[in-house]
Amino acid sequence: MSTTPIGAGDLSATGPLVGVLALQGAFAAHQQRLASLGVDAAAVRTPIDLERVDALILPGGESTTMSMLLATSGLFDPLKGRLADGMPVFGTCAGMILCATEVFDARADQRGFDLIDITVRRNGYGRQLDSFETDLDVAGLDEDFHAVFIRAPLVERVGAGVEILACHEDVPVLVRDGRVTVASFHPELTDDTRLHEMFITSL
Ligand code: GLN
Repeated sequence: MSTTPIGAGDLSATGPLVGVLALQGAFAAHQQRLASLGVDAAAVRTPIDLERVDALILPGGESTTMSMLLATSGLFDPLKGRLADGMPVFGTCAGMILCATEVFDARADQRGFDLIDITVRRNGYGRQLDSFETDLDVAGLDEDFHAVFIRAPLVERVGAGVEILACHEDVPVLVRDGRVTVASFHPELTDDTRLHEMFITSL
């Protein structure tokens, strides 16, 4: 099993600079996971912060609030441009919603980046399963990944060409299309760094 941490400083010294969108939500936990891999991730709050980074994590939180803050910070358009140009991105939970081409139960004014051909329903797991934890069999990992779902988006459709890396009860929860990887759960909320490592090593 490949759980060997990337050597401290290896990627931050020579590799691409990874950013974490830090307007709202669980960005600090993503930075901590990356720090434990020796990757010094930059918080992205402004268009100038964005210019420095080569890859980005869009964290969980509240996609409607993030959408609003992306607009007021002036980040939405430059970020949309960078993503359209192929900047690698890992979107988790609300971050998945921001990357999806189609969002059901979205607020009318919320905007996204149209990056990966999936349909998601906001808060689609309903009341009873609002928040839950489960072990996932993830393609490429030898052992299960413990996943935390919090008012997660439900993936209702996956387009042709989108790779399904993990499912929970036959519903895709981790999918990838080229440089765009999205998870409906929060991989940053346990100390298992394997999905962050998978993203970093793909850069
Ligand atoms: N329900 C939230 C939304 O619509 C996502 C929840 C999360 O990121 N944990 O954005």
